[in-house]
Amino acid sequence: MKAWRIEKHGGPEVLKLTEAPTPEPGPMQVRIRVQAIGVNHLDVWVRKGVPGHKFPLPMIPGCDVSGEIDSFGAGAEAALQKSDLKKGSPVIVNSALSCDRCEACLSGNQFLCAEFGILGETQDGGAAEYVIVPVSNLIPRPSSMTAAEAAALPVPYVTAWSMLTRKVNLRPGELILIHAGGSGVSVAAIQMAKTLGAVVITTVGSAEKAAKVKALGADHVINYRDSNFIQELKKITPQYHKKGVDVVVDHVGSDTLNDSLKALVRGGRLVTCGATSGAEVAINLKLIFFKNLSIHGSTMGSKADLMEVVDLIAQGKLKVVVDRELPFEKYPNALDLLENRQIFGKVVVTGLR
Ligand code: ZN
Repeated sequence: MKAWRIEKHGGPEVLKLTEAPTPEPGPMQVRIRVQAIGVNHLDVWVRKGVPGHKFPLPMIPGCDVSGEIDSFGAGAEAALQKSDLKKGSPVIVNSALSCDRCEACLSGNQFLCAEFGILGETQDGGAAEYVIVPVSNLIPRPSSMTAAEAAALPVPYVTAWSMLTRKVNLRPGELILIHAGGSGVSVAAIQMAKTLGAVVITTVGSAEKAAKVKALGADHVINYRDSNFIQELKKITPQYHKKGVDVVVDHVGSDTLNDSLKALVRGGRLVTCGATSGAEVAINLKLIFFKNLSIHGSTMGSKADLMEVVDLIAQGKLKVVVDRELPFEKYPNALDLLENRQIFGKVVVTGLR
């Protein structure tokens, strides 16, 4: 099969389109014929490498995929017998991998599993004609959802839902600041925060993106290139009789984190799921203890989170925003677009078949 492979970390040139053996599904695994690949910042990190972190190179990247069931490993077909899934069925793939046996997994906290991993990060992903996934990671794809939309879902939408619900427990009427409103996870978080009844303030880097986040439901938009978000928040939060925001979603990291903490009210919560500008930040702890702040970390979520997200989409409460689709041959360009923040929502790469 054709597959994009990374043998060593680096720039776009390390992604090589190669001929690889078509993988065979093992026990309780399924082979998926890839129809669409959603691109995430995680894929950029896998390509570039992360200091102090070891990825299992060489590997096929691609954490978010959707496609059709192509073949079954031992026991997998029987495991799906009572579902509607069979060979050829369109599926959404939960990209979170875990053991499915430990206390964390059995209590629905798969992201706390000692064996937690993500497709395309800890094992071969979906930037190929075929990918192998555990049978328990499949969710039927509703007929109203395209393959591109299904591939744009798992990492950003599950991460956003898990952050807003189980991590910071966002409540109606609360003020939430969501950074980088045009990013995949923020496009999801803005819509979810509105569904949960919060007031949404978001930051963007262009007037074009400002109009788009407004259309998604953001109540206030700050262009971070024109003004400092802390100064702008001082004009917004008094309208709600508050001295700051209740919750901040910060996946930018070193460029924003300290100001994000300053933006919080007493008892405020910050949740981080990434650090696109850098992960090392010096924090003044006085800010944390005097203001009784809490900081939550979040990596993806549970399979139940994905199922809830799929339901919200089916109910029309949530939209999947696909900025553009590129052909399979342009996979490295898709990562470039993401890295250079030229995307609003998601960029999806079409599968070969
Ligand atoms: Zn486990």
